[in-house]
Amino acid sequence: MRNVLVVLSGPSGVGKGTVAKRLVEKNKDLALSISYTTRAPRKGEEDGKDYFFTTREDFDNKISQNGFLEYSNHFDNFYGTPKQFVKDKLEYGDVLLEIDVNGGLQVKNNFPDAVLIMLLPPNKEELVRRLVERNTETEDKIKARLLRLDYEMEMERLYDYSVVNDDLETAVTEIESIIEKEKNR
Ligand code: 5GP
Repeated sequence: MRNVLVVLSGPSGVGKGTVAKRLVEKNKDLALSISYTTRAPRKGEEDGKDYFFTTREDFDNKISQNGFLEYSNHFDNFYGTPKQFVKDKLEYGDVLLEIDVNGGLQVKNNFPDAVLIMLLPPNKEELVRRLVERNTETEDKIKARLLRLDYEMEMERLYDYSVVNDDLETAVTEIESIIEKEKNR
């Protein structure tokens, strides 16, 4: 059995965060990587728990020190996966990254044994409706989000697996069986 590096991606609003949390809650040998980000913390988010919140300068330093397994720019903010953390955790168990598609594809390039899973909405129209409704931003920003949604869903074909998030527990069980299968491959 091998320890696997699992990447979970999917369009905004699909419920990636909830699925990732439930997976690590249920599986003690699965560690969720904590990313670095230059975006400001949202209400209720904690430094070192949800993200390592940092400055653009510190982020750039980490890039030049080759400290990220992957990083990407998402709506004007930078996000990166700490390389050492992932390496250390992989010695003892499986690691889960909840990152965007650009990051997922970089991971696959650097680490071909990684398993890429795309979480999809049961119904794209519903997701679009929610994105537009919950968005209090300008029309341009909404347009940018919708374009991003199409782009992310298009990348499904480059991912190893797709899982539809209709029911949380069903999606989690499906991902658990993918991990189990990959561990024995
Ligand atoms: P949010 O700002 O809503 O927490 O995250 C925005 C997007 O950034 C999400 O799609 C999330 O999966 C992605 N993301 C979070 N951490 C990382 C990371 O370390 N690398 C990459 N490439 N994307 C990330």
